[in-house]
Amino acid sequence: MDEEFSLFGSWQQEWSAKQNISIPCITHEPSGFHLPRKSWSALNRVRTENGRCAYAMHKRGKSPTSFCECGAIQTVRQIVEECPRTAYSGKPEDFLTATPESQNNT
Ligand SMILES: [Zn+2]
Repeated sequence: MDEEFSLFGSWQQEWSAKQNISIPCITHEPSGFHLPRKSWSALNRVRTENGRCAYAMHKRGKSPTSFCECGAIQTVRQIVEECPRTAYSGKPEDFLTATPESQNNT
């Protein structure tokens, strides 16, 4: 009798077999995993603080400045938490749980 194939289970088994150090197992799909790719990417840019912002673009020579229109150095955190033009008014945890409000803010 064949067991039903599980992509997640198969990946987890392979991942665990290759680890020489203890890395926590992924036990569930992160919130927002099934969002459209554009939303999923934007959400993860906020979560990892690694995304399209003037600071990052300037470092790569893709922007003439690292400053936001408000005058601060524009990082992902600045965009989401500090910028008077774009700051998210909800809780930072909303981006981890992928609330509809946080998705509309990415
Ligand atoms: Zn700003």
